[in-house]
Amino acid sequence: MTAQPVHVALGSEGATSAPTTPNDRPADGPAGARVLAAALAAGLSPRVADQVAAFARAEGVTGGRPLVACDLDRTLVYSSAALGLTVPDDQAPPLVVAEVLHGEPLSFQTRAAQDMLAVLADVATLVPTTTRTRTQYARIRIPGRPHPYAVTTNGGHLLVDGVTCPDWARHVADELAQAAPLAEVVAHLTRVRDEPWVRKLRVADEMFTYLVIERGQVPVGYVPDLTAWCAHRGWTVSVQGRKVYCVPATLTKSAAVREVARRTDAGDVLAAGDSLLDAELLSSAVRGVRPAHGELHETDWRAPHVAVTTRSGVMGGEEIVARLLADVLSASGDGTRLETRPPARA
Ligand SMILES: [Mg+2]
Repeated sequence: MTAQPVHVALGSEGATSAPTTPNDRPADGPAGARVLAAALAAGLSPRVADQVAAFARAEGVTGGRPLVACDLDRTLVYSSAALGLTVPDDQAPPLVVAEVLHGEPLSFQTRAAQDMLAVLADVATLVPTTTRTRTQYARIRIPGRPHPYAVTTNGGHLLVDGVTCPDWARHVADELAQAAPLAEVVAHLTRVRDEPWVRKLRVADEMFTYLVIERGQVPVGYVPDLTAWCAHRGWTVSVQGRKVYCVPATLTKSAAVREVARRTDAGDVLAAGDSLLDAELLSSAVRGVRPAHGELHETDWRAPHVAVTTRSGVMGGEEIVARLLADVLSASGDGTRLETRPPARA
């Protein structure tokens, strides 16, 4: 699916309290009370349960066990450079390490986000949905692990209990044949490989490629020119932090998530993400949420069914989990409808 971004006029940006989007209907009293009770029953602290209940909706998800597809970087987990904390150090939230590289902590989430995510993984099929390669994904430590399903390499790999699904790999190979070959794009990027603003040129799982750059030193016009060059070849460009991704347009997170939804006979699909590569995932979901930072925020990407967090950085990540959990718990009534068993594998 190649859904186009939907742009609507900016509302009161920078508001400090929900709701932030026209569809973001505040909960009525019973919905808030219901979600609060369910969050407390799930073991969340009163403070965190209150945070979830603040995003309760009168109308929750419908159908069977919901599927929640979540991007990782700058959506669920944050590098130290991406934390974006604005409070004095002595008021910073407790953080937990979500990734270790070479023995050093690399990515984090707040403890409250981790607590809420643990509940979310229990009441929904939580599908980590990332542009990371399989190797990069394997380093991530978030609740629900090992996740029964995960999408890596921007949809290139569907992991079932951590193992690549060969059927999906064959399907992706057919899809990739519709775009220009990887080698052609890599050769194009190689032209700038020795420029002082380029740190690395990488190929991900033999499916797409990216540059690691020095932000602020990239020549004006390079990314637009690259985007146009790629568009003529069936590829898309996304800038995320210090990486400039070139990805075949046929390689999408949403296609892999639809396959997981089919295999699990899922109810509503919810999604969260921050980059242009997440736009089609958010567009295809019944409901979505994006943070008030990142590529989508910088381009003011909006859709009627996608909420925008009031906070940014790692606190925005915490709010994303609160909103997703509230959506799921809003449908749970007195809690008896919650299915806490893991989904059946297909
Ligand atoms: Mg991201």
